[in-house]
Amino acid sequence: MASRSELAENYRHVMERVAAAARRSGRHADDVMTVAVTKTASPDQIRQLIELGHQDFGENRVQQLEQRTAVAEEFLARRRMLAPEGAPSEIRWHMIGHLQRNKVKSVIPLVKLIHSVDSLRLIEEIQTQAAKLGRKVDLLLQVKAASDPTKFGLAVPAVPHLAEQIDTMLHLRLRGLMTIAPYDDDPEVSRPIFEQVAELFTDMRKEGRYGETFNILSMGMSGDFEVAIECGANVVRLGRCLFGEAPEGEDVDDEDDDPADDD
Ligand SMILES: *Cc1c(COP(=O)(O)O)cnc(C)c1O
Repeated sequence: MASRSELAENYRHVMERVAAAARRSGRHADDVMTVAVTKTASPDQIRQLIELGHQDFGENRVQQLEQRTAVAEEFLARRRMLAPEGAPSEIRWHMIGHLQRNKVKSVIPLVKLIHSVDSLRLIEEIQTQAAKLGRKVDLLLQVKAASDPTKFGLAVPAVPHLAEQIDTMLHLRLRGLMTIAPYDDDPEVSRPIFEQVAELFTDMRKEGRYGETFNILSMGMSGDFEVAIECGANVVRLGRCLFGEAPEGEDVDDEDDDPADDD
């Protein structure tokens, strides 16, 4: 796990790499948003990154999301009380991991964007709970590219169909697509996957059906974010390259740990 000075250094270095990749793909550093994935982070590391001015954070499990949003809120509240002038600005949370339907209700109030929507039943549950809460929920469809053996995500041909369904639901707003490339030491292995998802994203944008707010392409993790940006990603989700590896024995996988899983 990265120490305080290591985290500051990692952050500076990673932001430079993100900016350089954005420029290589003809964009500005500001055009690519980094979600800091806190699943391997300690509460102190989260506080430090907030202090450094970072605003977007992500979690892949609901229980951790609840704990970490609480850590962040407490910290922000304390900083505002002590020094309202210099306090860090608002932060935003992203749900990036597999979401079970029975957790939807608790997740909606905590997050700005759900990246990992991958079934009609989940979509319907988000719509139901969002209606009850009087909220409009922003979401991404999680796409699984053809050559990808990962567990979650929609096959490419299923995406336009589900997008049309979302379009009819008043409390949902489809903001774009997300994908996770299978882990490989060589980031180039991810390129054809990112290209395929980027192509689908571009086609759907061109169609114009989902409006100007269909504008988020979330792809790229610590091992392959530069390739993802080169392929058109405008959101990258970074954990290990910021916070370091998880402490020994800690399970941070996107596994269902709930035997009452409903899908
Ligand atoms: C853990 C996780 C990440 C970050 O992975 P790193 O390799 O630590 O950067 C990004 N996206 C999802 C969905 C994750 O579960």
